[in-house]
Amino acid sequence: MELTSLTAAEIAAAVKNKKVSAREVVDAHLARAEKHNPVIGAFLHIDAAEARATADAVDARISRKEPVGALAGVPVALKDNLALPGQPLTCSSKILKNFKPPFTAHVVEQLQKADAVFLGKTNLDEFAMGSSTENSAMQLTRNPWNTDCVPGGSSGGSAAAVAAGFAPLALGSDTGGSIRQPASLCGCVGMKPSYGLVSRYGLVAFGSSLDQIGPFARSVEDAALIMNAISGPDRRDSTCRNTPAPDFTANLNQGVKGLKIGLPKEYFETSGLNAEVKAAVLAAVDALKKEGAELVEVSLSMLDYAVPTYYIVATAEASSNLARYDGAHYGHRAEGTDNIIDLFSKTREEGFGSEVKRRIMLGTYVLSAGYYDAYYLRALKVRTRIAQDFAQAFGKADLIASPVAPETAFRFGEKTADPISMYLSDIYTISTNLAAVPAVSVPCGVDSQGMPIGLQLTAPRFGDDLMLRAAAAYEQVSGLRNRVAPLQGN
Ligand code: GLN
Repeated sequence: MELTSLTAAEIAAAVKNKKVSAREVVDAHLARAEKHNPVIGAFLHIDAAEARATADAVDARISRKEPVGALAGVPVALKDNLALPGQPLTCSSKILKNFKPPFTAHVVEQLQKADAVFLGKTNLDEFAMGSSTENSAMQLTRNPWNTDCVPGGSSGGSAAAVAAGFAPLALGSDTGGSIRQPASLCGCVGMKPSYGLVSRYGLVAFGSSLDQIGPFARSVEDAALIMNAISGPDRRDSTCRNTPAPDFTANLNQGVKGLKIGLPKEYFETSGLNAEVKAAVLAAVDALKKEGAELVEVSLSMLDYAVPTYYIVATAEASSNLARYDGAHYGHRAEGTDNIIDLFSKTREEGFGSEVKRRIMLGTYVLSAGYYDAYYLRALKVRTRIAQDFAQAFGKADLIASPVAPETAFRFGEKTADPISMYLSDIYTISTNLAAVPAVSVPCGVDSQGMPIGLQLTAPRFGDDLMLRAAAAYEQVSGLRNRVAPLQGN
């Protein structure tokens, strides 16, 4: 039994039934990560001692016949913008290089209750700003399916860790596509839950009206399992819904018969959409039809405004959220300054990378007196129109199917010189954050170079369980489940 190619569900069952110990599972994943991470660069930090200690504690409880949680012994990787005390929390930024959080993220606490085992923290674009993980101030992350290509971003480290078989599960954050786009480029399942389903307490804020935490997995069932653990009420995040979350695994086998699936015509007419991606997504939709779904055409006519609207709303919120990194509170502090203003500006000049600075400048500009109405307020109005577009489409369809990203994984450096072309990689994912609705990326094929392609399914807000049910139905027929990238030298 190759332990690193088991799903989380298989691991949890085998550990509980004493077919394998949590310690053996963790050791196998650590060994694979220690061997290949120097090339893949998924992890920024691996805490092997802590992971082994947690696994041993789980095994001890099982041998005493004490009850254990639903993810007992399952290795999980965490994007390094989630707080886990004892481990660094860098957001891949020099400004937080030596920062250790004094508190625990809600999702981390929930996974601890479920007896999951944390392996370490994964690389990201600095403060989750980017679509290729190239904006990390720490290191490159390589796509496990072709190490000349990016893994996508901003949660590129989490996506690569799951695709490479370093962990069956990982958490990321998605403000405009940062879970779904890397999941698509790395061939795994990646889900952005409805806004308000998962508490962001302990997630470093980027765009607070858009940010959601969500899972990476190699099967829809595993994504549902970890969603069961992390979703539900939390008083420390006032945007979190107060009603208990459903059991996301309960209806996974119900199929799609009778469900109406909407195809937004604008999404398939975009000029940047790669022909192979389009063909794979349409073939996936066809497969859902054969399973009994009914296809209907819908219109999401605001698509062209999604990227500009997002880059006003998200940068405005980021400029405010990032004001706290000033050298006085915590994180990097510039030396040799003799007044507080110099301390702030020198610290920020030294600590932030160029993409983060660009966002802070853009965000400050759109919020400044004289431009606030013309940019920020206007963007909020367009945001409402985008949400209305979805509401109208969901009047006709239960779910919406579309591509996740216009292209498969691109090469390093291909888009770094042109921020606009990088921003356009999120054209299909951004609207869902603006509209607060959930969306998931599931593998739906590969291009002629063997690089993964994802299908995006979007549901009405809090229709996350129905969305996972359709994703599971598709996964069943596609057979594209639990694919671990064959790394060089194994
Ligand atoms: N790529 C988008 C950005 O750079 C989305 C990032 C995200 O979802 N965190 O803002």
